Amino acid sequence: MVKLMSKVKNAYKEIENIIGTDFISDKDYVKAAYSRNVDPAFPDRWADMIVRPETTEEVSEIVRIANKYKIHMVPRGGGADLVGGSVSEGGILIDLTRMNKILEVNEDDYYCVVECGVTWGALLSEVHPRGYTTGVTGPGSGFSATIGGGLSNSTAGGGSCKYGLVPDICLGVEVVLPNPQGTIIRTGAAANRYAAPFCRYGVAPDFTGLFMGDVGTLGIKTKAFLKLFPEPPFKKNLMYILNKNDFQKVFELSHEVRKWVNDGLLGMSFVPVFLLQMMAAQVKEKPAKRPRLKGPLCSITLEATDERIIEVYVEKVNEIMTKDNVARPFDLREINPTLEIPEKWTYKMKNLFNYFHPLISVAPSKLTCTTCHKIPFSSMEEISKKAPAFDIKHKKEFQPGSLSLWAGVIAVLPNGNFVVVGGFNANNVEEQRENSMKLWHKKLHHQVKYGGVHYWLGESISQSIVEADAYTPEFMQFFKDIKKTVDPNFLLSPNKFHLHSYDDDYTKYLVKDEE
Ligand SMILES: Cc1cc2nc3c(=O)[nH]c(=O)nc-3n(C[C@H](O)[C@H](O)[C@H](O)COP(=O)(O)OP(=O)(O)OC[C@H]3O[C@@H](n4cnc5c(N)ncnc54)[C@H](O)[C@@H]3O)c2cc1C
Repeated sequence: MVKLMSKVKNAYKEIENIIGTDFISDKDYVKAAYSRNVDPAFPDRWADMIVRPETTEEVSEIVRIANKYKIHMVPRGGGADLVGGSVSEGGILIDLTRMNKILEVNEDDYYCVVECGVTWGALLSEVHPRGYTTGVTGPGSGFSATIGGGLSNSTAGGGSCKYGLVPDICLGVEVVLPNPQGTIIRTGAAANRYAAPFCRYGVAPDFTGLFMGDVGTLGIKTKAFLKLFPEPPFKKNLMYILNKNDFQKVFELSHEVRKWVNDGLLGMSFVPVFLLQMMAAQVKEKPAKRPRLKGPLCSITLEATDERIIEVYVEKVNEIMTKDNVARPFDLREINPTLEIPEKWTYKMKNLFNYFHPLISVAPSKLTCTTCHKIPFSSMEEISKKAPAFDIKHKKEFQPGSLSLWAGVIAVLPNGNFVVVGGFNANNVEEQRENSMKLWHKKLHHQVKYGGVHYWLGESISQSIVEADAYTPEFMQFFKDIKKTVDPNFLLSPNKFHLHSYDDDYTKYLVKDEE
């Protein structure tokens, strides 16, 4: 114990010499402030020290010192993770938010270079007024979440229907490897010392991909090279309600709209009818006529570079959505007549980062156990039955009053993917944590086994995928071999994916749930 304390103390002093007294702390109030993400199902976890480097070289020095004393490290961006990803029990928590510079906005070649601790809000505030967008505009937490967190979590967010997940707009990264040398590498075109970072493929194998969605297990991203797109100036939002609660139609309509509108489709999402009915029940001033809510609400956002093009898209969408009386146009005032809806709908960046907050704060004092995952288009009907079946079967295990949603929103992603945004909550009391955590893992196993693919994996989800026996032994070995190459002392983000050491046998974490 004494030895452990002295190695932490020595490391602290050495890091302090590198980054300065103001940017390192082991004070309790600082450690407490960093002890959680937005994931109260986890207990508090206190790091031994919080460090806030400003440059890639400082990150590299911290990694060297961590290796010298064999102290583990966890990288952290905005800390807006929902699944226990960016906290550390003991060890060094590396807060990257001082690395927040926008280094280049290259309008000629449509890319930008940023430090990974910059937030989506700050980056978009810079590029948007110039008429550009990053396409994917980041998560609902984008006022505080960082680019590094988005790349590490394979985040989906605004613009994802058209542009994909955050890694899809990434042309390369600068990464500090967790090895004893704290090696700094660049990927994509930036790996070629003579080239500008304008493209991702062709210089070497796609090593960028290694670090995408790794939840900080393979390296610490310090810079990112991202695509820029001209922001299409014409946008329109259309709303429909399906005349039946028919998830086969959700698939068919999404498939058709994707097929015929494709590039013009900025967003397409569905709100299940039970949620609409809940919303209608909560309205204070009820409409004179009871709203007819029989199927999911569908919201479609279109964009184009020319007003004439957008009118063609509108016509096409109307044709698809109302054919055979499958759906009808919908106005939210049918539910809430006092709702103020401006005559002309405008697209606001602010809304992208605000829409999620009311959903999360429906239950401000609750534990939130999120289960957002992707499924292929054509499995929608089957999964709309399989997913809620879990909640019904395990009803007694949920705490009284807890709300479990298989889907609060279903959003269309590129090619044929839906993302099913869901989860459950419980009262935020100590005695509920263990039960909620178990139930959370069990629900995740269920989703993994019907072929659901999650994205922010952090700790709870990455471990649940292993527990469900989703990865083959060969894949797990490959993952370990890669990690060992970059992190021989096993110091970066331990525990994720149930990787606790290189000698550990992962099969002891497999869980057989009763079916
Ligand atoms: C209100 C709210 C709305 C949200 N909306 C969405 C959403 O729409 N879509 C979505 O996908 N997620 C969403 N999230 C979850 C989360 O905020 C996002 O995934 C976000 O991208 C995380 O970014 P961050 O900077 O906060 O990362 P952190 O929470 O700090 O870290 C996330 C993970 O990445 C690792 N990491 C962070 N930075 C680095 C780095 N530079 N190098 C290596 N590893 C790193 C961490 O170790 C951790 O495992 C939401 C969360 C909240 C609270």
